Amino acid sequence: MDKYLTNGDRLWSALMEMAEIGATSEDGCRRLSLSDEDRKARDLFAGWCRDAGCRLQVDPFGNMFAIRPGTDPDAPLVLIGSHLDTQPHGGRFDGVLGVLAGLEILRALNDAGIATKHPIAIANWTNEEGVRFKPGLTGSKGFAGVLDRASVQGEAGADYFDELDRIGYAGQRLADFDILAYYELHIEQGPVLETADVAVGIVEGIQGVRWFEVELQGQDAHAGTTPLDSRSDSFMAGAVLASRLRDGALSLDKDIRFTIGRVEVSPNSQNTVPGLTTLHIDLRHGSCAVLDAFEQLMSDTLADVATQEDVQGSIKQTMRVEPVEFDAACQGHLRQAAQATTGTEPVFLPSGAMHDASNLATMVPSAMLFVQSRDGISHNPLEWSEPAHVATACEILAQAVLIHANGPV
Ligand SMILES: [Zn+2]
Repeated sequence: MDKYLTNGDRLWSALMEMAEIGATSEDGCRRLSLSDEDRKARDLFAGWCRDAGCRLQVDPFGNMFAIRPGTDPDAPLVLIGSHLDTQPHGGRFDGVLGVLAGLEILRALNDAGIATKHPIAIANWTNEEGVRFKPGLTGSKGFAGVLDRASVQGEAGADYFDELDRIGYAGQRLADFDILAYYELHIEQGPVLETADVAVGIVEGIQGVRWFEVELQGQDAHAGTTPLDSRSDSFMAGAVLASRLRDGALSLDKDIRFTIGRVEVSPNSQNTVPGLTTLHIDLRHGSCAVLDAFEQLMSDTLADVATQEDVQGSIKQTMRVEPVEFDAACQGHLRQAAQATTGTEPVFLPSGAMHDASNLATMVPSAMLFVQSRDGISHNPLEWSEPAHVATACEILAQAVLIHANGPV
């Protein structure tokens, strides 16, 4: 494309101006959700949206929506969103880019005098980062109707809904808010796009996560008097199991993420053969079928190792988050926009991190676009995306949203 519709310089200026709110040393940001800094960021964003002629709405979870009307008053809207809150030692791009790219698109449409059939709206989701309040992604969970309000816990006695009131962002249930599709632009937070030397990638889906506790029960014994071949050593059984599961994961699917990040050994005494070992496993993949297959492999391997090592084995699942597959048509629009903007076939990749789009995808056709982030760093003041990459990503998002917001031609 010879000339972009969107203005990368203006988007960059907005990013840098927003970064002054809660600015920390090393060019970082600290804007915890529903803090005074969050209020200032919201106020700045709201002012920009009003200046762009948008109508603003806030829902009961404090999610902000800025709406640019379409030509068809009955048409559902195309939503672009992300989050303005940051980690305590956060950067200038995580979340903020997705919100301000939405704003840039609306500003550019205004400048060019382009009307769309469907309204286009920008969302700022509350407490994506989950720092001041647990669980994270609170706002988008509430919006999607999957939040248990009683489960929301604040740090140092802070109450989510009281804090919304305090900063003036407790809103009303939205009426007439039908969504046609949802798009989110976010920094990659990983190394794939940098390694591939491309500005952007289209996200196929978000990995599912399953956590397991695997217990190996052997028998405590004296380290000096018990011969190696007559032990029931739970740790050695755990070590054999860990190694075999790693090999199994590699042979099953190269995209499996299999981690044993925590091991408990009892009695944890240097001169005692340990009778009990617990492995805490984190398993991730984008496909339920692959996760199920690995679970079966884990169960079979455990039975085998338990017999071989003379221990009892058991597996307990302690957490499960389903994978998300993004909408094929929305991905198609992003692909078409990326081809037109960059002149090349875009990269597709999975997301290892959760995003608000995970919740939106349970309700409406959704998709995500990643922009390259330097060294894959995020949740860190060193977060950085190149201005040229940011401009390209915003333009692709704009073109994809335009295709969607004008309906079938
Ligand atoms: Zn984020």
